[in-house]
Amino acid sequence: QLAQIVQEIGTEAYLVGGFVRDLLLGRIGKDIDIVCVGSGVEFALKVAQKLDENISVTTYRNFGTAMFRYKEWTLEFVGARKESYSRDSRKPVVENGTLQDDQHRRDFTINALAISLNKQNFATLIDPFGGVEHLRKKIIQTPLNPDITFSDDPLRMMRAIRFASKLAFDIAPETFEAIIRNKERIQIVSQERITDELNKIILSDKPSYGFKLLFHSGLLHYIFPEMVELQGVEAVGDKRHKDNFYHTLQVLDNLSEKTKDLWLRWAAILHDIAKPATKRFDEKVGWTFHGHEEKGAKMVPHIFRKLKLPMGENMRFVQKLVRLHLRPIALVKDNITDSALRRLLFEAGSDLEALMQLCRADITSKDHQKVKKYLAN
Ligand code: ATP
Repeated sequence: QLAQIVQEIGTEAYLVGGFVRDLLLGRIGKDIDIVCVGSGVEFALKVAQKLDENISVTTYRNFGTAMFRYKEWTLEFVGARKESYSRDSRKPVVENGTLQDDQHRRDFTINALAISLNKQNFATLIDPFGGVEHLRKKIIQTPLNPDITFSDDPLRMMRAIRFASKLAFDIAPETFEAIIRNKERIQIVSQERITDELNKIILSDKPSYGFKLLFHSGLLHYIFPEMVELQGVEAVGDKRHKDNFYHTLQVLDNLSEKTKDLWLRWAAILHDIAKPATKRFDEKVGWTFHGHEEKGAKMVPHIFRKLKLPMGENMRFVQKLVRLHLRPIALVKDNITDSALRRLLFEAGSDLEALMQLCRADITSKDHQKVKKYLAN
């Protein structure tokens, strides 16, 4: 239907970006990105009018984009464009361009694919940078010189790691080396955008992979130094302690197999966050960590504020779990034991409100019943 309407309007238009990438990966997304040659806003208005007169189109004339919802889809329109960047900003100077110009401005080869909606070459895949091959080989690679791509818009370094982590792809060596070279440019990106990408990495199936890429590229040192602090094993004589960075990632991965709750995942990330600051060496017992649960709980609002994560109920939920040193994570286990529940209730004391908050994670209803039963007794 879309193709028919596009052809009636007679404007040159293409499906692009994430929708095409996901289509080739066998997934039909609900967000459809469309590029047209000419005004994206005017084109969106015409398409909407033809689909259904009552559709309300949101237009962003400053950006030359427009979007509307139709049935279960969200359609986003943009006019094909050419971009050029100045050194101190990730906002490009934009001029009208061709499809080719538009493909050149995209971040990765797998995101630079286009499918024609036009009569003369309908459904042809236009793949100027080998994106299909990279999808097959599971590689994230920039279409142009990666140093230029990342220096132009340093957020793309986070996006590279986000796509690698989400899709379980490798980052091409020359692309990864360019991230290492350009890492300090991340500082020109707003905290909101960085945290957005970080949360998407945290929500991938195996978030440890994304965190290792962040760590090895050096980006983590800029965006989340408290986590880097966890890394390393110190030894005095034959007494060593475990590497808390890798331990944290292990806990995060284990938990991520059980829950997609972003805030439970944040609690896993932060559960040992204060350990470096509380580390002591004792001749007899080796390394010990004093009061890191309480200190960690105090660090939670500080880290949330710095990363511009929301400060309300979710922050308090994470803080509570960090204070309890994550023990209630037993709640997301398939077969929670009665003793784990008893311990949890004991620790929560009379703070039933807080306990119910802990229980709001996506645990099975059977466990909910158990918690309720204990609460009633
Ligand atoms: P998802 O919807 O899973 O986040 P997506 O690829 O649709 O994936 P978007 O952020 O919606 O991600 O971007 C849509 C398309 O716009 C991308 O596929 C890419 O072609 C292009 N794009 C987005 N952000 C950038 C950027 N910072 N630099 C270059 N191209 C970008």
